[in-house]
Amino acid sequence: MAVIGGGNAAFETAAQLLSYAKSVTFLIRSDKFRADEVTVQKVLSHPNMKVIKNAIPKEIKGGKFVSSLIYEQMGQENEIPVTGIFVEIGLIPTTNFIKNLISLNKYGQIPVDPKTQRTKVDGVWAAGDSTDGLYHQNNIAAGDAIKALEDIYLYLRAR
Ligand SMILES: Cc1cc2nc3c(=O)[nH]c(=O)nc-3n(C[C@H](O)[C@H](O)[C@H](O)COP(=O)(O)OP(=O)(O)OC[C@H]3O[C@@H](n4cnc5c(N)ncnc54)[C@H](O)[C@@H]3O)c2cc1C
Repeated sequence: MAVIGGGNAAFETAAQLLSYAKSVTFLIRSDKFRADEVTVQKVLSHPNMKVIKNAIPKEIKGGKFVSSLIYEQMGQENEIPVTGIFVEIGLIPTTNFIKNLISLNKYGQIPVDPKTQRTKVDGVWAAGDSTDGLYHQNNIAAGDAIKALEDIYLYLRAR
């Protein structure tokens, strides 16, 4: 398995994969990890864990399934055999279209009231990965949307 990234999410993924995989290789584009030191130490001390620093992923090869990953390191292309690749490099929400209406946070997320999913703009709600919620998962996005709908219903009834 290969994990691309060097932050906490990448380390959490690697920690989970190490329970099942014969080998897990980190590909990190710099030479420094951004994860918490305690997590870094724990994961990297596992005998099945490998690290490739200063590596830029270039291509994923395979047919029906993934078979290898090509990366560039100091101007040279290398290939490693892998059967799975987990990309943990963070996300930028596609909220550009609304930035002139709602003030976004530094990650481009829409700040919301977590009780109602209301934004600071009257009559606009937001849900899921576009918001500044702490966790982003499928069920959370769906739950956010239901909260927003409940609140929209009350909002409209009160008018
Ligand atoms: C690699 C990966 C693995 C994941 N694994 C899991 C997992 O195992 N379990 C889990 O619960 N969650 C997982 N997640 C997180 C989960 O996918 C998200 O939290 C969830 O999809 C968020 O739903 P959403 O509706 O907010 O956003 P999205 O699913 O991103 O949907 C947003 C939609 O809006 C559309 N859109 C964007 N801009 C516009 C526009 N201007 N106009 C109209 N439409 C627009 C997009 O095309 C997209 O279809 C994973 C995410 C990733 C990236």
